[in-house]
Amino acid sequence: MTSTRAGDPAMSHAPGGFPGLPGLPGLAGLPGIPELSGLAGLGADGERAALAADAGDRTCRRAEFLVPPAPAGARHPETAYFAGNSLGLQPRATRDAISAVLDDWAVHAVEGHHRAAHPWLPYHAELREDAAALVGALPEETVVMNSLTVNLHLMMASFYRPAGERTRIVIEDHAFSSDSYAVRSQAVHHGLDPDETVVRLRPRPGEDCLRTEDVVDHLAREGHRTALVLLGGVNYLTGEFLDIPAITAAGRAAGCVVGWDLAHAAGNVPLALHDWDVDFAAWCSYKYLNGGPGAVAGCFVHRRHVTDPALPRLAGWWSTEQATRFEMRPELVPVPTADAWQISNPPILAMAPVRISLRMFAETGMAALRERSMALTGYLERLLGEVVRDRPLEIVTPADPARRGAQLSLRVTRGTAADLATRLHEAHGVLADVRRPDVIRLAPVPMYSTFHDCWRAADALAREVSPA
Ligand SMILES: *Cc1c(COP(=O)(O)O)cnc(C)c1O
Repeated sequence: MTSTRAGDPAMSHAPGGFPGLPGLPGLAGLPGIPELSGLAGLGADGERAALAADAGDRTCRRAEFLVPPAPAGARHPETAYFAGNSLGLQPRATRDAISAVLDDWAVHAVEGHHRAAHPWLPYHAELREDAAALVGALPEETVVMNSLTVNLHLMMASFYRPAGERTRIVIEDHAFSSDSYAVRSQAVHHGLDPDETVVRLRPRPGEDCLRTEDVVDHLAREGHRTALVLLGGVNYLTGEFLDIPAITAAGRAAGCVVGWDLAHAAGNVPLALHDWDVDFAAWCSYKYLNGGPGAVAGCFVHRRHVTDPALPRLAGWWSTEQATRFEMRPELVPVPTADAWQISNPPILAMAPVRISLRMFAETGMAALRERSMALTGYLERLLGEVVRDRPLEIVTPADPARRGAQLSLRVTRGTAADLATRLHEAHGVLADVRRPDVIRLAPVPMYSTFHDCWRAADALAREVSPA
């Protein structure tokens, strides 16, 4: 595998900002979101302050979710759930939405395609606007379909077109395994050597996260040999939020196609995919989006591509226009929207939870969620700062709030992360997520996590990890 350090440190310049994202740093103005300065630290006073902050917080929608009970014997009755970046909690409305589909099927059978409360034939279209708002896209640029890695493959079928010396695919060395396997298999699919074709960008020695300027510099030097840049918007391991507009601009300036895996970004950070000129993106719906295990995923294709009939696509009957679909013609009529990448008719029972969860995100809005998220994550970071100071723990997520979402990853430098996570759960009801061997991920999810959850996580770590 071609491994490379992402850039030449001598060429460094200030990382790009976030043009076009309104109101990111502000932590004022939303109902009940407390000022960080007003919250105390660890200890009994700190716990009281956290509970008081929660009592006044009207942006949090925890009451609309099913929060698992803590294991018997834990210090609190409810789980402090920090694994919403792995599998989001179940909205209370989800069960009824699934039941309603079953009822429609029972009562209407085949006529449910037209007569169901939410008719099945245009069902995916009902999710379009909310999905578009979530990722900052035009409605015709988004579609909810399949699962994440399948969507990445469908996107690469259209957008990974190796030719001449431009054959490489750039990913990050800390890419999620599925993305690594997907791009390697695409290289093989095109008759190329995956070890030569896939370039993995590594952070500088001694650092955990990529620097924007190093990625940009790599693309300036190697872009002419790069067909596709496919990076994670928020890295699953470190929680780093890459500068999507700056990297997209650099890749496109070098003539590359730039796609983003937004598994850990969708529902976590504000996105503006259309304005950022991203070529394509895909995300899953079971992490921050609370769509349930294996939930139907989302996909974005920029308008300049959806209106291009010459682009090669893998097709099926759901790729053709709805009006003539049942004429069963031998050739399809292309639709000038992301729907053109749909192949099969969608699984309505599985779409119902995603419809519910996308509605919730549209109601609250990513700007409000981001504001609450920065308060929660900033609070957790401050508490963890007290804990890690004299303990064998290290925060690997960027300290700059603009460079991260709702996740703080901790490196455990004594004992194993798995043992520590087990103790946090069994004794304290704090459910974190382990990435072996040494990382614990804590995601205070803005939709339902509380300030008291954050206090409990820091308190549990302080009790379970003895000072070095
Ligand atoms: C969660 C995640 C996946 C999972 O892929 P599925 O196709 O949904 O099973 C893939 N890539 C990234 C970056 C992820 O975080």
